[in-house]
Amino acid sequence: MDTAAAVADALLCVCPRCLRLSSRRIGPRRYCPSCWNRTREVRIGRNAKGSQPRLQLHTVGLVVTRDGAAQREHVADVAGALEAMMILAKSAAGPVAFGRPGVEP
Ligand SMILES: [Zn+2]
Repeated sequence: MDTAAAVADALLCVCPRCLRLSSRRIGPRRYCPSCWNRTREVRIGRNAKGSQPRLQLHTVGLVVTRDGAAQREHVADVAGALEAMMILAKSAAGPVAFGRPGVEP
């Protein structure tokens, strides 16, 4: 197994939000159960105690380079740029690099 494949395999066990290793992952983005529950609370607007969740989800824009071509991508409903990068890296079929979008003239 080459290094990139080993890293890709290791990323499959990591929750993209909290970065903890978890043998159980839920949902299309493969969150750990705790992060999945926090996401659900944001969607319904309240936590188990009936309060408004503290977690805020955003759409993050990144410049993603795959196969030498850079393009702007947006990832919705994430807590930050690191989570967005983890989600994109976990779904990448090859080497990928990230950057912050510049200001457009
Ligand atoms: Zn998590």
